[in-house]
Amino acid sequence: DTVGGNLDRAVAAFPDREALVDVPSGRRWTYAELGADVDALARALLGRGVAKGDRVGIWAVNCPEWMLAQYATARIGAIMVNINPAYRAHEVEFVLNQSGIAVLLASLGHRTSDYRALVDEVRDRCPGLRAVHYIGDPSWDELLAYGREVTASQIASCEAELSCDDPINIQYTSGTTGFPKGATLSHHNILNNGYFVGETVAYTEHDRICVPVPFYHCFGMVMGNLAATSHGACVVIPAPSFDPAATLHAVERERCTSLYGVPTMFIAELDLPGFASYDLSSLRTGIMAGSPCPAEVMKRVVAEMNMTEVSICYGMTETSPVSTQTRRDDNLERRTGTVGRALPHIEVKVVDPVTGVTLPRGEAGELCTRGYSVMLGYWNEPERTAEVVDAGRWMHTGDLAVIREDGYAQIVGRIKDMIIRGGENIYPREIEEFLYGHPKVADVQVIGVPDARYGEEIVACVIPRDPADPPSADEVAAYCRERLAHYKVPRRVEIVDAFPMTVSGKVRKIELRERFAA
Ligand code: ATP
Ligand code: MG
Repeated sequence: DTVGGNLDRAVAAFPDREALVDVPSGRRWTYAELGADVDALARALLGRGVAKGDRVGIWAVNCPEWMLAQYATARIGAIMVNINPAYRAHEVEFVLNQSGIAVLLASLGHRTSDYRALVDEVRDRCPGLRAVHYIGDPSWDELLAYGREVTASQIASCEAELSCDDPINIQYTSGTTGFPKGATLSHHNILNNGYFVGETVAYTEHDRICVPVPFYHCFGMVMGNLAATSHGACVVIPAPSFDPAATLHAVERERCTSLYGVPTMFIAELDLPGFASYDLSSLRTGIMAGSPCPAEVMKRVVAEMNMTEVSICYGMTETSPVSTQTRRDDNLERRTGTVGRALPHIEVKVVDPVTGVTLPRGEAGELCTRGYSVMLGYWNEPERTAEVVDAGRWMHTGDLAVIREDGYAQIVGRIKDMIIRGGENIYPREIEEFLYGHPKVADVQVIGVPDARYGEEIVACVIPRDPADPPSADEVAAYCRERLAHYKVPRRVEIVDAFPMTVSGKVRKIELRERFAA
């Protein structure tokens, strides 16, 4: 099915059920209303001269128009390009030109960024950019006016041209380990993935999903929007960008049954002063994903947020995104200590990162995945695509994992984050997981920095529970020595108040390494 066809099915099946709620503005859409507004925007884009395969950029924090744009572009076969809301002028210029955006849909700005000023600054250097329309601005109404000339038969003939394998989306990766790459994805890629993620958490038209993760990232637009609409569920937007209090407020007010987040978001919510005063009894499930999900945090989410069926997903933008997921009936050990099993129609294997030989279950190596979910390729970068997708269509994830005897996968860490100290391979994840148990540690990241004697040395970057009483290097070392081999004990502790983050909520260890080198 196509993304547009799938939305039509939900509109026909659940016309009067709620599809979308924007808590900040109080605006609400039923499926029938969502379908109508998507059609209006699709017609407007056609009227504006957007043809199949043209790139339409969307540059906005979470708002209803983002979701309308997602379905409207898919409906006419345009390729939507998600632009990171945190981008500054030179980055936007790069994306506009790299993906060849013809029409840009943007919000007026976010926090201190004035998007219109930034676009004006780079526009002369973006020859392919024909039009820009801003959400909540007269230029948006002008866009919608273009649609009045377009007939239903024009839309229909446009839909007749669509194929499930057409590209409809360029999603840039988070840029956690370097410069973002533009993964090109088809209807088939992302719609199936959204559907199966929703199946695994048993979504129905009675579910209401609180989505504080960005739509610009696959977590929001696929695991959120597409999982919801492919099951007739409702998307609830708590705030334009992540705010722990607004998120808990939205869950309470909208009686959400599901809540999403990367681990740091859940930590911020659980540690929010006044957390206990929110009524979270409507929650049943949710998804934690994006970076290593500490067992401690998972257990608190189950116990303190009523999310008894919470699920962990593992995946990456390049694989639409989810490859493995924990299930509702998994026991607590599997649910908190693994990233689950492969989703239907997805294969996983672990290979030796150097020789490429497939390893037996239980051994750590590079995780590879294959199936409908593997991207078409990086946009206009066949060489970079060939570096990660091999001739057998296996995606080499760059993540180290173990597939256990029971088929459940555990992520050991990223190959790029592995520390090699005195010839020993050290996985920061293991040390981080352990340090979460230290009473003075609120959050922790372990990195390797260059060291003359050992090649690399281990540094624990700690956000203390109480800034007035941070753990000392000796305390941390003493704590670790009891349970970890001596070569895994951090030699240095750096106290920080926050980690450098991507907009998708991942810690940029690359920046921590630069900051604490030497
Ligand atoms: P870039 O590729 O630009 O450096 P990125 O890899 O962070 O950025 P994404 O595609 O958003 O970009 O993230 C995918 C990565 O996130 C995975 O390769 C993996 O390292 C990490 N990840 C996702 N889910 C999990 C999880 N449940 N547990 C551990 N790691 C995870
Ligand atoms: Mg990546």
